[in-house]
Amino acid sequence: MTTVKSITELNNTTKKLTRNRRSKPSYDSENVKENSSPTMKNLEKFLQEELMHRYNVAIPFIEEACLNDWTKKIIGENKAESVFTTVDLGRLIYQARLWKRYLPRVQPYYAVKSNPDINILRSLFILGVNFDCASKGEIQQILEIGAEPSQIIYANPAKGFDHIIYAREKDVRLMTFDNIFELQKILQNFPNAELVLRISSNDTMSLLPFGYKFGARKDDAFALIAACSELKANLVGISFHVGSGCYSPVAFIDTLHRAREMFSEAEKYGINLSLLDIGGGFPGDDEGPITFSEIASAIAPVIDSLFPSHIQVIAEPGRFFCTSTTTVALQIYAKRDYVLRRVDSESNEITEIKETQYYCPDGVYGNFNNIIYDHAKPICRPLNEPPLDVMLFNSTFFGPTCDSIDVIAKNISFPDMNLGDWVYFANMGAYTIAAGSCFNGFERPPIYYGVLLYKALS
Ligand code: PLP
Repeated sequence: MTTVKSITELNNTTKKLTRNRRSKPSYDSENVKENSSPTMKNLEKFLQEELMHRYNVAIPFIEEACLNDWTKKIIGENKAESVFTTVDLGRLIYQARLWKRYLPRVQPYYAVKSNPDINILRSLFILGVNFDCASKGEIQQILEIGAEPSQIIYANPAKGFDHIIYAREKDVRLMTFDNIFELQKILQNFPNAELVLRISSNDTMSLLPFGYKFGARKDDAFALIAACSELKANLVGISFHVGSGCYSPVAFIDTLHRAREMFSEAEKYGINLSLLDIGGGFPGDDEGPITFSEIASAIAPVIDSLFPSHIQVIAEPGRFFCTSTTTVALQIYAKRDYVLRRVDSESNEITEIKETQYYCPDGVYGNFNNIIYDHAKPICRPLNEPPLDVMLFNSTFFGPTCDSIDVIAKNISFPDMNLGDWVYFANMGAYTIAAGSCFNGFERPPIYYGVLLYKALS
């Protein structure tokens, strides 16, 4: 069975800050005590140093008080650009600490698909996070940053032939499946694979349910356990995914009980499962109906009550880590007044709705593809905070392409903006950069990396 490396290495008191670039990075919390206050820079410093020594990338500390000030500083220094993104790697430290505080038993495997930005991946690796890959390309990316094959779960239940063969060649053993054809295909192509049966979940409380595409229902899952026993397949665990954008812990709790049934069923065949994978779906910001800490506090005791401590528990969070790292800043370059006229079909009465329309240099074909693919509703804010009593107008913000679906914020109340003014959208790290294109000849915005200094979670 693959040894699951632990995020607890983040605070391993016995190890010194390492300079051995071949070894897995570790963080020395004694060092924190020596150098703590006033800045609490120590883990940030560790990350910065490791990024330099391992990958030769220099990431600056951001001394500004908040993301907004950092954005303003960049604008001040680079007047020519009209759109850019900031990626705050310090936020990953914050999220890793949050994870460790609420789900200390659960080793996170970051879902690379949510944001495969190279410096995000490197930083997470340095922080002791493992990886969930869905393809040959993602596996390659993770191995290239120096992770070991045992730090990867290949969590795509339907794998292409060349992708499985690549996993075998690279010794990435841990992989999911949810049907008999996939089981047979894996056994033919990679008999030593460590199999994780993905079961269907209660995904009725998620923005993007997956049940139609992935996950074995109870009867099918029981049949698959029987098939594993008969075929002597190396079944090691159970996984599920409650769907992306989950807004209730009940979804997790229900599915944890289903997973427990699978463990008991496997025992009937003499198979002692040793791994539980609770998937992704954990919120990455506090703007939704439920927070990470609320979900985590509700599910941690259930995991402990259903699964004894020798069972390794892992998860595949994507948005949890990357959402809040990224801000998109946009300079308004065109504007018009528009009157929408609606005729009442019965009374023939005409209603007029006035709006101001703004045109911005990034849209749904770029970073804002999350509006289409991820049901996101990004929040537009003026970069320079207006006075409290400012007049608000009905406003719509368009992206730059000639496509009419390219709308990034519709009918929102907003202060009057001039050409050349800046707006920004925070929490733009998940399912944004990952699928953006250059449609209509609009280049991908430049990325500025930094490590913002947050107060450490105690
Ligand atoms: N694991 C699997 C198998 C997924 O398909 C996804 C998202 O599509 C994730 C993890 C990550 O989900 P989230 O970003 O909601 O945590």
